[in-house]
Amino acid sequence: MSTLPIYETFYAWQGEGCHMGRAAFFIRTFGCPVKCPWCDSAGTWHPDWVPEKIERFSADELADRAVAHRAEFAVITGGEPTIHDLTELTAALHRRDLPTHLETSGSFPIKGDFDWITVSPKWAKLPLPENLRRANEIKLIIEDGESVEKWRAQVSPLTAGQVVWLHPEWSKREDPAVMNSISVTVKTQGHPFRAGYQLHRVYNVD
Ligand code: SF4
Repeated sequence: MSTLPIYETFYAWQGEGCHMGRAAFFIRTFGCPVKCPWCDSAGTWHPDWVPEKIERFSADELADRAVAHRAEFAVITGGEPTIHDLTELTAALHRRDLPTHLETSGSFPIKGDFDWITVSPKWAKLPLPENLRRANEIKLIIEDGESVEKWRAQVSPLTAGQVVWLHPEWSKREDPAVMNSISVTVKTQGHPFRAGYQLHRVYNVD
């Protein structure tokens, strides 16, 4: 059985998106070639922060950890998890009846069987069209007053049923231009747009 390089695993609750507030077990993989300047998990890839020793775990070891809690589902995140083949891990989680979610930039082919896919596209490496189509929800990071319109053009056309979350980039969450553009979009466009926030940071659970 192969192993995956893992930055951390932790039990918390989902702080973003349609499953916000639900108990979840997070598996954060190492490695990301996208390299966003404001990355909030740069310890998974930035040479200044990556630990000397990177631990590896088998799919069954990770799935056993996940079911030791009362999690309603597992979230595979990163870094960029899809640079790894996640087939064994998603199978191990499903053998234990744990629904499995993916959080990805969408920039690489997805290998694994997921019950829910969140694509959060990044300008540094745009998502593959097939990943945008597969996404259950799309999370757009809003950095300035023009971001909403630029991203809307980039991710269109949307698939029926998709939800599009507009998240202020965390350091811009008090920027009036950013917050106003999100509010105006939601009020004038309605579905599929929703105003997003990283609620886990408010609760300090990550
Ligand atoms: Fe960080 Fe995600 Fe950007 Fe990778 S894609 S650099 S993990 S924010």
